Amino acid sequence: MASALTDKLSRLVKNLSGQARITESNVTDMLREVRMALLEADVALPVVRDFIARVKDKALGQEVIGSLKPGQALVGIVNKELAATMGQGVSDINLAVQPPAVILMAGLQGAGKTTTTAKLAKHLIEKRKKKVLTVSGDVYRPAAIEQLKTVTAQAGAEWFPSSADQKPIDIARAAIDYARKHHFDVLLVDTAGRLAIDEALMAEIKALHAELKPVETLFVVDAMQGQDAANTARAFGDALPLTGIVLTKLDGDSRGGAALSVRQITGVPIKFAGTSEKIDGLEVFDAERHAGRVLG
Ligand code: GDP
Repeated sequence: MASALTDKLSRLVKNLSGQARITESNVTDMLREVRMALLEADVALPVVRDFIARVKDKALGQEVIGSLKPGQALVGIVNKELAATMGQGVSDINLAVQPPAVILMAGLQGAGKTTTTAKLAKHLIEKRKKKVLTVSGDVYRPAAIEQLKTVTAQAGAEWFPSSADQKPIDIARAAIDYARKHHFDVLLVDTAGRLAIDEALMAEIKALHAELKPVETLFVVDAMQGQDAANTARAFGDALPLTGIVLTKLDGDSRGGAALSVRQITGVPIKFAGTSEKIDGLEVFDAERHAGRVLG
């Protein structure tokens, strides 16, 4: 494959004539370029270090097959390792429980939780033929509750009312009762976010998790957040047993290095990517395609 990185690496090894394999001496220079490419894509530094160490192990001594140059071979190894790191695991939503299957949405304010809740509702209705209920536990921002009502209608799902004078845990209990009585397959629970990590927020979402026992706890993260996504992922991953990630705003111009950071830090699969503000802007995450984008 041809990429800016392949070109750079090829130039680096141009003078190494007769080089039959990737060696310790040429790999160091090449890995420096890979490291730069990952940092330019906003992958968090500790994640870059780990990744480079893994690639170095794999690259050393590897035969360069046929007409491939060491630069291209290394990019091949990097691409494969990137895709493997970002792509392990199942990508669709797990619904293998006694209904209603509860899905808890977690993440910072502005990450795209409410939008993604509606996108997922539509996905589950259309692709999995499920009866879907949504509810908002964001009692701090009445506008967020209204926003969920609007987008849920667009998704063709049902919305369970909640209001600012209720406690999130009471809302959760009432919604799950309603979902049971009315035979919903799935209950999607949108939660409050803050602009930054905050202990009260974490305590609240942990309590919600304990009450709801969700089959999926999805961490919603904005791809444009770059390096900050790593810290956010660590905080949510420490607080909650996450089951998957939704990486939003991949239609933006970021290289999407956050994917590598959040995948490596949380250890859970990136299940979906948000690709527009619209209700149908949700795609199953494609790790291989994304690897090419991260490398630029
Ligand atoms: P929340 O605070 O986490 O619930 O975030 P919202 O769902 O309200 O989203 C915040 C903003 O990001 C809104 O303007 C959304 O339209 C926008 N948004 C969410 N997901 C995407 C996406 O995948 N692509 C784009 N371009 N915008 C998105």
